[in-house]
Amino acid sequence: MAVAAREETVSRLNEMGPEELFAWALEAHGDRAGIITSFQDTGCVMIDLMCRVAPGLRVITVDTLRLHDATYAVMDAIEGKYGIEIERFRPDPERLAKMVAQHGEYLFFDSKPKQEFCCNVRKVEPNQRALETLDVWFTGLRRDQSEFRAQTPRAQLVDRNGRKIIKVAPLVDWDQARIDAYIAEHDVPKNALYDEGYTSISCVICTTPTLPHEDKRAGRWRWFSYLEKDDKECGIHIGGSGI
Ligand code: SF4
Repeated sequence: MAVAAREETVSRLNEMGPEELFAWALEAHGDRAGIITSFQDTGCVMIDLMCRVAPGLRVITVDTLRLHDATYAVMDAIEGKYGIEIERFRPDPERLAKMVAQHGEYLFFDSKPKQEFCCNVRKVEPNQRALETLDVWFTGLRRDQSEFRAQTPRAQLVDRNGRKIIKVAPLVDWDQARIDAYIAEHDVPKNALYDEGYTSISCVICTTPTLPHEDKRAGRWRWFSYLEKDDKECGIHIGGSGI
C-alpha cells in the first residue's frame, strides 16, 4: 500500500474503538498484524478484547530471558485461558553470549550506555525482528503511563528500518481504573507483581515497585535517578517517527 493511502487509513483508525481496530486488522492484514505485549495489565486486556472479536490475530512477546517468574506465569495463564500460542522472540544467542562475556550479566548497573546496550540486545533487536513480520503493530501504550507517553496517538505510521508500518495503541485513552474494572469484570489473568506495588513490569532487578505519586514507569532503573536525563524508555518505542 502506498504511503499516502496508509496515512488515510491511519486517520480512519484514529476514530475506531479497540474491537473495531482488531477486526479491521485481522481482515485487512491477516498474519501481518499482531499484538506485541510484555503481559502487563493493558496487554492482557488487549488480548481478551481481541479474542472476542478477532481470534486468530497473532500474539507476540519479547522474552529477554530475564523476566520475572510471575510474568512467565501470566503467559501460561493467558495461553491456557484463551487457547492461543504466544510467539516468543528472544535475544540472539551469539550477541547475548558476547555481551555477557565482555560486560557481565549485570552490566546495566555500570552506566546508562551499558543499560541501553543490554536493552538493545535483549529487547530492541528481538522486537525489531518481530516487527519485520508485521505491517500492523498493536501495543499497550497508554497516555497515563508517563509524561513521555502523554501525547501518544491511537494510530500512527512509524518508520522501522526504513519501512513504514502502522502502530496502533487501541487502549491509549484508557486510565488505570478502567483497565482494573475490565480485568475484574472479565477475569483477565493479571501479573501478581501488581499486588506488590509494581506499576510497570519488565526484567528482574530493572523494575521495582512505585509510590502513589510517581509515574508508572518510575520504578525502572532507579539507580540512574541522579542523572539529568533519567530516561525510562527501553528503546522499543523510540525511533522512526513518534513513540
Ligand atoms: S530491562 Fe534491564 S535486564 Fe532487561 S534488557 Fe533492559 S537493562 Fe537488560
